[in-house]
Amino acid sequence: MVPPLSKSKFLAGLQCPLRLWYACHEPDLASPLSLSQRAILAMGQRVGELARDRYPGGVLIRENHLHHEKAVRSTREALNTPSTFVIYEAAFTFDEVRIRADILERSKGKLWNLVEVKSGTSVKEENVYDVAVQYYVLTGIGLEVDRAGILHLNREYLYDGRELDLGGLFTFTDLRERIAEMQPEIASEIRDFRATLSQATPPPIDASRHCRKPYICEFFDHCRKPMPDHWVQELWGLRQDQLDKLAMMGILDIRDVPKSLEMSALQARIRECVIKNAEHVEADLGRVLSDYEYPIHFLDFETVAPAIPRYANTHPFQMLPFQWSDHILSEDGVLTHRAYLCREDRDPREEVARTLLEALGEEGTICTFSNYETQVIADLRDHLPQYRDQLEATTTRCRDLHTEIRRGYYHPEFHGSFSIKDILPVLVPSMSYDVLTIHEGVQAGLAYLQMIDPETPAREKERIRKALLEYCRQDTLAMVRIRNELLKRSGG
Ligand code: SF4
Repeated sequence: MVPPLSKSKFLAGLQCPLRLWYACHEPDLASPLSLSQRAILAMGQRVGELARDRYPGGVLIRENHLHHEKAVRSTREALNTPSTFVIYEAAFTFDEVRIRADILERSKGKLWNLVEVKSGTSVKEENVYDVAVQYYVLTGIGLEVDRAGILHLNREYLYDGRELDLGGLFTFTDLRERIAEMQPEIASEIRDFRATLSQATPPPIDASRHCRKPYICEFFDHCRKPMPDHWVQELWGLRQDQLDKLAMMGILDIRDVPKSLEMSALQARIRECVIKNAEHVEADLGRVLSDYEYPIHFLDFETVAPAIPRYANTHPFQMLPFQWSDHILSEDGVLTHRAYLCREDRDPREEVARTLLEALGEEGTICTFSNYETQVIADLRDHLPQYRDQLEATTTRCRDLHTEIRRGYYHPEFHGSFSIKDILPVLVPSMSYDVLTIHEGVQAGLAYLQMIDPETPAREKERIRKALLEYCRQDTLAMVRIRNELLKRSGG
């Protein structure tokens, strides 16, 4: 029997028919959600709850997806109650497709507005299909739809620090005309998905670029397994036309990529290193990495970007640095360390800027591991006029170690990644993030929010504080060690 489709299965099928097939027939092959995926879901839930306040007084359909038919009956009852103007989580089935509508709002006469809530700040192409399949079901059962679209956060909204103005925080984009035109396409997709699901074996699809767009597929680890250790996807910046050529030649392994394939300098270098199983050190790498002024500051920030503004004068997703770590290498080789971590639930930016300027002084190169740190400093500069000139001067001292490594060094064990977490164990095997309580940036942001939560017990706050300090310290110490190692390997 072909399992019923849901909205999420429909969207999975749009990304990849194999993803749909696995989701229905072999769901246990999925990897557990990563921390950042869980954080995104939790954020979506929070935004969804707030969006209901934008349409107050509604009836919530409480039955979950395991009791869909019961939820459909409760929805019908709510629809037929004249005093009901808004329904949250309304459930419907048409053509064996099940949906839950975030918000249904009574419009004029018998018409209803369909509101899909998204926690982003714009309408993405996949969101349009999300609403289109709901429209397919609603109009299929005979519901008359007036407006149908996405309610998303408004990037321009500036919180005044008092009460959130939900009218300003959210923006509604009506997609009705466009999705009405898409209905034949939706019907055809549904037929195709049913045909895929009726097969006893999964469709023959190899993992490729589509596995990460628009979502990171939960079956990626499973589909990655049969691929070679040095998979062509590890060629940095691989373009679709290159991938198509390689697919036509049946090439999956970097070692089989012909030299004649048009490649960027970095792709050619990666291929060469993998074939020779040897590192590449650019002739001037030692000189470039030595060309730093002492004292050298190795700087890293941790930031958090709440979807819903938390402090006055912040927008949705405003990036807020709450912590920095600075390892300072003096000319005589002495390494010292300074750090700052905001401990209170308040806008940390002024204190971050003040303490940072004090630590960085006015001399020496500031070594970062992306241009993100420079961006954070530039944002602080724009927000804090009292420090504008000093912060501006600071940005001119920044050097991005990540870019310099990408330009001048490669090791086959990097596997196409230049992330600090991937290159550290290759260059400095004695250091690892695995031993830390916190081992990724998103986790640091979540831990910080937990630490400043007044409900968190004092002992837990202290445990988180230590873990955050240790994590950020590791990032800057890793930079020191990576640079040292590369200086050795390049004879610098
Ligand atoms: S990992 Fe890629 S190929 Fe495999 S199911 Fe997901 S999207 Fe399809």
